Amino acid sequence: MTARGNLFIVSAPSGAGKSSLISALLRDQPVDMQVSVSHTTRQPRPGEENGQHYHFVNQDEFKSLIADEAFFEWAEVFGNYYGTSRVTIEQTLAKGIDVFLDIDWQGAQQVKKLMPESIGVFILPPSKTELERRLTGRGQDSAEVIAGRMAQAVSEMSHYNEYDFVIVNDDFDKALADLLAIIRSQRLTSASQIHTQNGMIKDLLAG
Ligand code: GDP
Ligand code: ADP
Ligand code: 5GP
Repeated sequence: MTARGNLFIVSAPSGAGKSSLISALLRDQPVDMQVSVSHTTRQPRPGEENGQHYHFVNQDEFKSLIADEAFFEWAEVFGNYYGTSRVTIEQTLAKGIDVFLDIDWQGAQQVKKLMPESIGVFILPPSKTELERRLTGRGQDSAEVIAGRMAQAVSEMSHYNEYDFVIVNDDFDKALADLLAIIRSQRLTSASQIHTQNGMIKDLLAG
């Protein structure tokens, strides 16, 4: 039986803290977890590196990737295109590595349809005031972009109940512990353990 990683979909309104939570999770470079690096047509923010935060492409490049069926899912978010590379996630899951998708609710719906065993996690901010404070405090988007993202926040948050789990990111360390608990519990399901402990289980059950 081949190893198979779990696919986690993490969504939230912009500024709720999903990128911070995922990077805290991967800070110590665990060998068994990876974040999927999306393609996007939006402009890089200060400090964002091509290939690390996103693969930054123009509209024509994005459209030819769609035509080549290179995306597992893609969506238009805040006027830009975002998409998840199919080959990369399939190859990574096949190695038994858990993959995290930081994608919006439209992408999440597509992934759940294609891979119903994927695990959806929605991150909520503790309040709208705090969400706006974080978006402003991050200091990377213009006032106009922030206003646009705040205007979208309520409709994005209304999708929270399409996800398997909901985390309120008020205290960051607690939210991170919640995320780790979700990951750990998924690794302990019998469907996962049959892959991870295959040899041992075979020995135990041998007649
Ligand atoms: P953030 O909200 O501050 O993290 O801003 P980003 O510009 O990084 O992301 C914008 C939106 O696009 C968010 O809702 C992301 O979840 C979503 N997004 C990012 N990558 C992907 C992707 O590959 N596919 C889809 N469908 N959505 C994505
Ligand atoms: P997202 O990826 O969801 O858009 P970020 O991870 O970029 O959000 O977080 C937005 C801002 O809020 C960042 O400046 C981050 O440092 C801050 N932040 C994230 N979580 C918390 C928290 N629990 N308490 C206070 N600030 C937070
Ligand atoms: P930002 O522009 O702030 O990096 O991202 C804005 C939103 O786009 C976030 O909610 C993020 O989750 C979403 N997003 C990023 N990459 C993808 C992707 O590949 N697919 C989808 N569907 N959404 C994405």
